[in-house]
Amino acid sequence: AVRAARGALPAWAATPPAERAERIAALRDVLVARKEEIAETVTAELGSPLKLSQAVHVGAPIAVAGSYAELAASYAFEEKVGNSTVHLEPVGVVGAITPWNYPLHQIVAKVAPALAAGCTVVLKPAEDTPLTAQLFAEAVHEAGLPAGVFNLVTGRGPVAGQALAGHEGVDLVSFTGSTAVGRQIGATAGAAVKRVALELGGKSANVILPSADLAKAVNVGVANVMSNSGQTCSAWTRMLVHDSQYDEAVALAVEAAAKYGERMGPVVNAKQQQRVRSYIEKGVAEGARLVAGGPEAPRDQGYFVSPTVFADVTPEMTIAQEEIFGPVLSILRYEDEADALRIANGTVYGLAGAVWAGEVTEAVAFARQLDTGQVDINGGRFNPLAPFGGYKQSGVGRELGSHGLSEYLQTKSLQF
Ligand code: NAD
Repeated sequence: AVRAARGALPAWAATPPAERAERIAALRDVLVARKEEIAETVTAELGSPLKLSQAVHVGAPIAVAGSYAELAASYAFEEKVGNSTVHLEPVGVVGAITPWNYPLHQIVAKVAPALAAGCTVVLKPAEDTPLTAQLFAEAVHEAGLPAGVFNLVTGRGPVAGQALAGHEGVDLVSFTGSTAVGRQIGATAGAAVKRVALELGGKSANVILPSADLAKAVNVGVANVMSNSGQTCSAWTRMLVHDSQYDEAVALAVEAAAKYGERMGPVVNAKQQQRVRSYIEKGVAEGARLVAGGPEAPRDQGYFVSPTVFADVTPEMTIAQEEIFGPVLSILRYEDEADALRIANGTVYGLAGAVWAGEVTEAVAFARQLDTGQVDINGGRFNPLAPFGGYKQSGVGRELGSHGLSEYLQTKSLQF
């Protein structure tokens, strides 16, 4: 597969950006035409409710593919600096390794910008969701991309993934998944002096300032954590509430969580279910107060986990520090803004977050002090053009929009 990608690289890199844009637009159109089939496949593999699969698991990657069709056509692949012309050229062959939580989005967020940049790709998708990846490969073929520009290799992480990450014919490894594997891939890439992009975990804070609309902030905050059964790296899994509003916020969260019992799908597999349940047990053991859900499986069949809310969580507890990747919310108490900031920034992660306040300017002033790559202000919507990626151990590099495209480019300066 790497050989095929190398073979296809010179011609694809030399294809005018407008033509690359046309192929990516055609790919988007095939995804649109096959969206029902893709949504059903995501539901079959991941277990997400069909409506979520249609709206998010297929809707988001269609939007992202569309954004790169436009960006490929409009991006400035050449710039002038004084007496130099700087050419932005494709990095080369990309090895993409993706997780199962948003199976198609994670693929498109790497493959679409790589193709827009003029790179060729070998994809190793997660072993839990290979059929979604297979459908994507069919879509690439139907869209008329030249042979070898995109290649799919399914297989297990430590076998197929590791072989791809360590391959000398790969110029850039783009990985999304766990911090442990990301660290290993970063080390391998560093030793080979090759480019690497890492999208890792998160433990994002949802900071509710005293002037905020508390009910709205809590309701949106709970929905954010429960969506996709908690399997979202950017989920706001720590809710920070002022001491004076703490009991009210907990009551609101309990009420909100009760709505998700029927609505929520299972987690991806037995291992993930066990992992989430053991985190819930750990929360109880370390003295957090369980106010909704718990470690018991709510149904006999399927890998379901109850929507779970913990109160009286303190910053040093395991459930306030480690990524659980399940429907588990921790509510923490703060005394004043300085305390809230210290707690919010007090993990190894920095992927996303939220700030709620009566005035936007107050929320923005707080958000600017957060060590994190994205912050939603008063419930700001997901923007597929905004750079997405981590501060600290949440990763290296950015995906989406023009920042995501520039990850796949290298610069050459010509002086006149
Ligand atoms: P993982 O990191 O093991 O898997 C992600 C991808 O990496 C998969 O394609 C996998 O096959 C591959 N991989 C695994 N080992 C590899 C290796 N040694 N070399 C190269 N590739 C390898 O993640 P997981 O086991 O599926 O999930 C475990 C935890 O990771 C989750 O509970 C969650 O905390 C986190 N996670 C984060 C994200 C995210 O979006 N940031 C996504 C999925 C999982």
